[in-house]
Amino acid sequence: MSGDCSRPLKEDRTYFAADYSAKLKEETQAMRNVKIDMEKCTRCRECIEVCPEEVFELVDGIPVHAHKEKCLECDLCINICPEDAISVVTQ
Ligand code: SF4
Ligand code: SF4
Repeated sequence: MSGDCSRPLKEDRTYFAADYSAKLKEETQAMRNVKIDMEKCTRCRECIEVCPEEVFELVDGIPVHAHKEKCLECDLCINICPEDAISVVTQ
């Protein structure tokens, strides 16, 4: 039968690729989180100021990696921290 083919149409394959890419990004971001060692943190706020995406929120004077979906994984916060209090954790 003409037109009956088990291979997905080009449009479908493009959709699948875009969908897979979005899912992969979502999963990667979900796995990457930034942890702040409260025993080392002096609340200097340098991590907050350096972050280009305003990922951190200050909660009771403590920086919290509140908007991880916006994180660019640039590691600027990790590198600027004078107390080496920030690390990346994967879940
Ligand atoms: S830069 Fe380091 S010490 Fe300063 S507030 Fe951020 S985590 Fe704490
Ligand atoms: S890695 Fe970059 S974008 Fe992510 S929280 Fe740190 S400074 Fe902000």
